[in-house]
Amino acid sequence: MKITAVFENGVLTEERPGAVKPQQDLWNKKKGGLVVVECPQRIPCNPCNTSCPVSAIKTFSDINDVPEIDYDKCTGCGICVAVCPGLACFVIDLTFADGLALLKLPYEMLPLPEKGATVKCLDRTGKAVCDGKVENVAEPKKDKTKVVHVAVPIDKAHDVRAIRVV
Ligand code: SF4
Ligand code: SF4
Repeated sequence: MKITAVFENGVLTEERPGAVKPQQDLWNKKKGGLVVVECPQRIPCNPCNTSCPVSAIKTFSDINDVPEIDYDKCTGCGICVAVCPGLACFVIDLTFADGLALLKLPYEMLPLPEKGATVKCLDRTGKAVCDGKVENVAEPKKDKTKVVHVAVPIDKAHDVRAIRVV
């Protein structure tokens, strides 16, 4: 996998080299969503692996391993989203509603968004790409990063990676 370009500016490119993502046919029908992990560099970190309740993030042989996913096991629970210190895990549910995807995004700012609020949805560079509606503000792991569930147009699901409260 060619990932040199990712490390020149810290932003995954349009083609998302380095992202671990599901096969499209599985993703299209998986209610609750599936995890996308954008963590392409070998670093000494493994809470995604040790926290996944169904072992969908495969056991590391070395703490520097890059995460690999068993997508048949992932339930879209969002626990890895909450525990990842690099904010590199996201859950995307492509079955949410007609024309809409539900993204489960890490959020560490204050104030927290309100359920039902409209927020600005940002791409990997921080650029606003669409509006989204907050469906839930979850805490899948106590005292860890909050996970905001936001509905976005389905054609933006692979671009949106953060929100800004307005
Ligand atoms: S979303 Fe849940 S089930 Fe899927 S990899 Fe993350 S912690 Fe495991
Ligand atoms: S917890 Fe996050 S930063 Fe650490 S290895 Fe897993 S995905 Fe990468």
